[in-house]
Amino acid sequence: MKTPAEYLASLAQMKHNVWMNGRKIARPWEHPQIAPGVNIVCLTYQWPQEAEHQALATATSHLSGATINRFTHIHQSADDLQKKVEMTRLYCRETGCIQRCMGVDALNALSIICHHADGMFGTSYYPRLLDFIRTFQEQDLVGNAAMTDVKGDRSLRPHQQADPDLYLHVVERRADGIVVRGAKAHNTLAPYAHELIALPTRDMRAEDADYAVAFAIPADAPGITMIARGAAPSVKREMSAPVSSRFASVESLTLFEDVFVPWERVFMCGEWQLAGYLAETFATYHRHSYCGCKPAISDLLLGAAALVAEYNGIPTAHHVRAKLTDFIITAELVHACGLAASLKGQAQTSGTYLPDLVYANVGKFYAGTNIHHEIEVLQDLAGGLVVTMPSEEDYRSEEIGEKLKKYLAGPAGVAVEDRVRCFRLVEDLTASKYAGLLMVASVHGGGSPEAERMAILRSYDVESRKQLAKRAAGITQ
Ligand SMILES: Cc1cc2nc3c(=O)[nH]c(=O)nc-3n(C[C@H](O)[C@H](O)[C@H](O)COP(=O)(O)OP(=O)(O)OC[C@H]3O[C@@H](n4cnc5c(N)ncnc54)[C@H](O)[C@@H]3O)c2cc1C
Repeated sequence: MKTPAEYLASLAQMKHNVWMNGRKIARPWEHPQIAPGVNIVCLTYQWPQEAEHQALATATSHLSGATINRFTHIHQSADDLQKKVEMTRLYCRETGCIQRCMGVDALNALSIICHHADGMFGTSYYPRLLDFIRTFQEQDLVGNAAMTDVKGDRSLRPHQQADPDLYLHVVERRADGIVVRGAKAHNTLAPYAHELIALPTRDMRAEDADYAVAFAIPADAPGITMIARGAAPSVKREMSAPVSSRFASVESLTLFEDVFVPWERVFMCGEWQLAGYLAETFATYHRHSYCGCKPAISDLLLGAAALVAEYNGIPTAHHVRAKLTDFIITAELVHACGLAASLKGQAQTSGTYLPDLVYANVGKFYAGTNIHHEIEVLQDLAGGLVVTMPSEEDYRSEEIGEKLKKYLAGPAGVAVEDRVRCFRLVEDLTASKYAGLLMVASVHGGGSPEAERMAILRSYDVESRKQLAKRAAGITQ
């Protein structure tokens, strides 16, 4: 397993193709708005080295028997799935979003679908994928899941779009590989990943066969360009943005301009019948991951709410206690869905364990549709100072600072600086660029709420409930 230093050294070896704020970035991993994302990934290399975290942060490879980073593991049991959820919650309490889940979620989904494809079409995707996973585990690589296409007109299928490149597609098939063109959107951690793992974003029909494509490609391969956006503040201050100046993810719009992919890295090419199944299987894994990360966000919001209530002198007020309980209910219901999805997980034909689709989707849906309420409650308990507090420079000013401290005081016994730091935390979590990311990521990350509703309804046995109602109503036909 790599150490954080080895990970940083590996980034330095790569060719750089990342743009941000109108410029090509020479050393992306050091850029102030990208480094907070890199810091998160470094933690995923640090914890496997530490005895207290090893039980969750490492796993045993089913391919080599070696101890590997759990972010490279293919789940072999319900216990593996449960450990992923528990690990994700612990990592995300520190970082908000651990980012590295998506690459391994993509590999787990592929390990199921490639096996099916070989059975249905006589292809040899599964052994190819296992070769890739072996390397991924041995080198402890970071993978982005590049699934979401830019999609143009959402009411049209890929082949119906005015510009054929609005979904990633195959433009050439050669003896040694394929050439792909298009773009993938919102690619978390791609600017500091080793590999991009491309997957189809939706179900396809025969006319969309060129769009049914999945592969892995080094993130610095010729033809790939990333246009990145970071949630971290551009200027680091001592008190402001206490979370996002240390840990904040980066997403890119990733262009694939006639990128060559050798056959040994191609895991789907034209099998349109399985594109939707692959998209849904990835989404199930990723929503299962959300059942670990979203409770961690609720943990932090709950902690900040309890602290700010104390610093405002209202910790025992009835409405405060009720509101704190609401955070606990959200966190633990979502986490319970993750645990239930793990417990009900089942081995697929390849041996890979897949979490229960309904529980994984219900958990993500509940988290995503409650995040704005959680933020609202924290803002409610904090008061308007969250957005009107004078700047850190005023607080530190020799002329005006002392006056500011006098009027920012809270209850006796609470240091003014602690109160100010607490409000800076609440600002970072609820009223900053980073807060905006938290909210939209909770709603849309892993799929929109409507996509989750569709997945739940499609796989739920509504008919048996109808029969139940008929029996209850005494309807005999
Ligand atoms: C912070 C963040 C990080 C992300 N990271 C990644 C990543 O690393 N990799 C990755 O692949 N993706 C990533 N995503 C993408 C995420 O999965 C998508 O945002 C999500 O699937 C929604 O897609 P969209 O953004 O294109 O919105 P849209 O799909 O356009 O959704 C907008 C609205 O349109 C509705 N809609 C869409 N299509 C239809 C239709 N045909 N008919 C009716 N209604 C429709 C939706 O339900 C929704 O209400 C990330 C997203 C965020 C916010």
